[in-house]
Amino acid sequence: MILKIFYKTQEAFEELHAKLKLYPCPHCNHTGYLILHGKLYGFTESDTSGKIKKGHRIFCSNKKKKNGCGRTVSIRISGFIKNHIISAGTVSDFLDNIKDGKSLAEANRDAGNKMKGSNVYLIFKKFQYNQVRIRTLLLRIKAPPFANNVKNAVIQTILHLKSVFKENSCPVSQFQYDFQTSFF
Ligand SMILES: [Zn+2]
Repeated sequence: MILKIFYKTQEAFEELHAKLKLYPCPHCNHTGYLILHGKLYGFTESDTSGKIKKGHRIFCSNKKKKNGCGRTVSIRISGFIKNHIISAGTVSDFLDNIKDGKSLAEANRDAGNKMKGSNVYLIFKKFQYNQVRIRTLLLRIKAPPFANNVKNAVIQTILHLKSVFKENSCPVSQFQYDFQTSFF
């Protein structure tokens, strides 16, 4: 059993919680010492809600002579982007708009204007920076769709992402869940 660091629903989390002692620690590989160690909170793109729960921290217990390593692991809801306010859904919509040939500002506007000013460029840069890693993971599932007329690497990557997760309304969240790694 491998501990999932991304999960989708509260039910999935509760199932994991019930079996936590059966999972080896990702740091020290010892089984039987993982316990819950508080929640991860963060702001979201909707201004009104304040901080909300984005995941949990898990502790590999070394207290009371337990043989854990004392380190923590964060597990996160796959619909959020680590260290960012925007959701995976917004990033999916934003990239979808880029694929349609919109400028960064237009793509943000049409995704609901959820990124402010320079954040739009920051997010796009992060995506560009992670493209090779993203494409390598997508290739494990299938080859990119044949699109001879598409020369732009960014658009190729977005088309590849959409083709792998075509059944899913939020490819970025599904990417994080299926590959158990951050999108960027
Ligand atoms: Zn450990």
